Amino acid sequence: MTLDKDYTVGGTGYLQNPKDIGHGYDKANSGPAKGKDGKLTWHFNAPMVHDFAWGGADPDFIHDVYNGANGVKLHFLYKDNDAIKENWKKLQPKTNEMLKYFNEHIGEYPYKQYSVIQGGDGGMEYAMCTLITGERSYGSLMGVTAHEFAHSWFNHILATNEAKHEWMDEGFTTFISNKAMAYINGEDEGTANSGSYRGYLGLANSGKEQPQTTHADRYEYNGAYGASAYNKGATFLAQLGYIIGDEKRDEVIKEYYNTWKFKHPEPNDFKRVAERVSGFDLEWYLRDWTMTTNVIDYSIENLSSLDGMSVVSLKRNGLMPMPLDIKVTMNDGSEKWFYIPLEEMRGEKAVPNNWTVLNDWAWAYPTYELELDGVDMRSIKSVEIDPMNNMADVDKENNNWSLQE
Ligand SMILES: [Zn+2]
Repeated sequence: MTLDKDYTVGGTGYLQNPKDIGHGYDKANSGPAKGKDGKLTWHFNAPMVHDFAWGGADPDFIHDVYNGANGVKLHFLYKDNDAIKENWKKLQPKTNEMLKYFNEHIGEYPYKQYSVIQGGDGGMEYAMCTLITGERSYGSLMGVTAHEFAHSWFNHILATNEAKHEWMDEGFTTFISNKAMAYINGEDEGTANSGSYRGYLGLANSGKEQPQTTHADRYEYNGAYGASAYNKGATFLAQLGYIIGDEKRDEVIKEYYNTWKFKHPEPNDFKRVAERVSGFDLEWYLRDWTMTTNVIDYSIENLSSLDGMSVVSLKRNGLMPMPLDIKVTMNDGSEKWFYIPLEEMRGEKAVPNNWTVLNDWAWAYPTYELELDGVDMRSIKSVEIDPMNNMADVDKENNNWSLQE
């Protein structure tokens, strides 16, 4: 690429001729090289990428290089503007923390360069770089960088088809970047995706939802595309942790990356890895969650007394089945925890020792009786389905039963 010599460029690929270019590529803060007739010819090479971009070409750019984990050079190209400079400096070590988080929780970044370039119209991911509008708050700059950088793993390295399987790209990217941001900010990673649940539930209750198998260009509403791809996609992974256990889910993500990087996996490929790692049958989860708009809605219908035991009557109101975590709180404040596996899973997640694992609930039965042997109904204060809010139940109002005063 031949340009006026004052322009600084960032982009996909390794610059092959840094000495002929200068601009901070040969050494820190170097100005433009001499060039020829006032021009420089930039030569980039990018192995194993499916798209590319150049950004910048701005004579006022500052170009910093930060030495990141595993010898990855992190480049930052941004305007020499006092209002944003400090944000862009602070972003640099944080981007390295993101790199380390993604390396550990997905798999190692295979390139030796990533460039965060001020430009574009929001945030957009490309191989080995992102274009991001720079005049934003520090928190927003960091959040968008985390999201676009995470795309490197799902869009560029795994390289799922983002138009056909948008939820596997935007959703998985959202899931892991939310967790990375929570980790870096010292917040709870376990609730990092609660906003994604809210976004999905809003969509499910809006009447505008289309199945996730819809091509990205065939949604009637852009908002429905966004909530489906980003929020429902992130919830797919968060909720998978509820089904097979968080540790297994985390293992699945790493095994998925390891098995499918640079191979363009399809939804069934993810499912097969998840089944192999967890030992669960997950066909039902992939089918109901991604191919239909079936919703999850369980309720507690009644609490009754029978032959000295208490019976909690549960009901599945939605078409999508799920395993259930249930908490019974006694009047003395003590708690009893129960786990009802879904028969179709052909598996059970690991639960704490003090939980009781009950008989499977088969899909064909809309109701289930949870029997509490030797428990006097009058000693029960409340019963709650999924008290930790890990299940995307569209109607939480009917998930509780409590003693009426
Ligand atoms: Zn994205």
